[in-house]
Amino acid sequence: MNKMTVKDIDLKGRTVLMRADFNVPQDADLNITDDTRIRATLPTIKYILQNGAKRLILMSHLGRPDGKVVEKYSLQPVAKKLGELLGEPVKFLDDCVGDNIKKECEGTKERVVLLENLRFHAEEETNDANFAKQLASLGEVFVNDAFGTAHRAHASTEGVTHYLKAVAGFLLEKEIQYLGGTVANPQKPFVVILGGAKVSDKIGVIENLLPKCDMILIGGGMCYTFLMAQGKKIGSSKLEKEKLDLAKGLLAKAKQLDKEIVLPIDNLVADKIDAQAKTELVGENIPDGKIGVDIGPKTIALFETKLKTAKTICWNGPLGIFEMDAFSKGTGEIAKFISTLPATTIIGGGDTAAAVAKFKLEDKMTHISTGGGASLEFLEGKTLPGVAALANKA
Ligand code: AMP
Repeated sequence: MNKMTVKDIDLKGRTVLMRADFNVPQDADLNITDDTRIRATLPTIKYILQNGAKRLILMSHLGRPDGKVVEKYSLQPVAKKLGELLGEPVKFLDDCVGDNIKKECEGTKERVVLLENLRFHAEEETNDANFAKQLASLGEVFVNDAFGTAHRAHASTEGVTHYLKAVAGFLLEKEIQYLGGTVANPQKPFVVILGGAKVSDKIGVIENLLPKCDMILIGGGMCYTFLMAQGKKIGSSKLEKEKLDLAKGLLAKAKQLDKEIVLPIDNLVADKIDAQAKTELVGENIPDGKIGVDIGPKTIALFETKLKTAKTICWNGPLGIFEMDAFSKGTGEIAKFISTLPATTIIGGGDTAAAVAKFKLEDKMTHISTGGGASLEFLEGKTLPGVAALANKA
């Protein structure tokens, strides 16, 4: 990777401004129900502190307060939790910009400071230059470790880089390494697995990855538009009619490039999308009134045959409605299967990461992306503003 990381700069005696992703889930009493995102930033935070930084000023967003102060989206509970995990107090400041905040950042005895939610100011998401300059004035160097927002040019991801040297933290470095590096230059055979709700969300990914991969296996809600494009019956399964021609075009393009697009050869279908619904297994054609909710066992076996020799696997989108146990077999079996392979396994974020977590296979994949939208844009081959803004290695 040609982007500078926190390891490439001198931290001694410097005040470091760092964008983290502390967008954690909370219950009604504002207790943090899952601190994974806070724990995930600890390696970068500890590295900065252990390598002599004078002070670390952390900033993040939480929820969607839409430019207003919304008490339930305060980052105060995160400061407390982070302090416990770090084993040293974290000073929480009740705003992120202004003269008082600057003074407090400079005068505080704690080494670690967490600023209040950036999105309490509308200027964060509009990438206002003055707001970005005020944020930048709090540090001497900028570290971005928030991949989930790297696809947005916000003041704290892109704006600040106009005023401070910007480098990647360890989380962002890993995302760039796998979603950028490995996917762009994969070891072959490179097999892509795509699923999820809609074809329209994955068109860019197919177009970008088709020339790079050896084959694409398609399941999930998006596969029925492709099956129909091949002349199959899909009953009442999810269909994006207006994308039928596009699906036909992609199938033709794959043929032209001598790449395989592999579609389900059998399907689990239900009368309705309900955990108690009556289900049955059918072949390639789905009878009238039935809804495809998962890939069938023959498809699982077919996908496994295609995957077993892969050296690189990239997966984005569950292969069925995995949130319901009755419809989760295809996603679970494929997740288990690839977790045993001697391949580099890259899991796109969002629902695919949730599916892998559901089957407790997080530790068995090479890389699980932390960003939903950001990982999709990376796989589409787009330039992410938060990544592009990082300093290049000499
Ligand atoms: P995405 O965010 O595009 O990866 O889509 C994830 C969603 O796709 C999940 O909530 C799944 O329940 C849904 N999904 C997967 N398979 C199907 C299907 N056969 N029909 C409808 N939705 C599906």
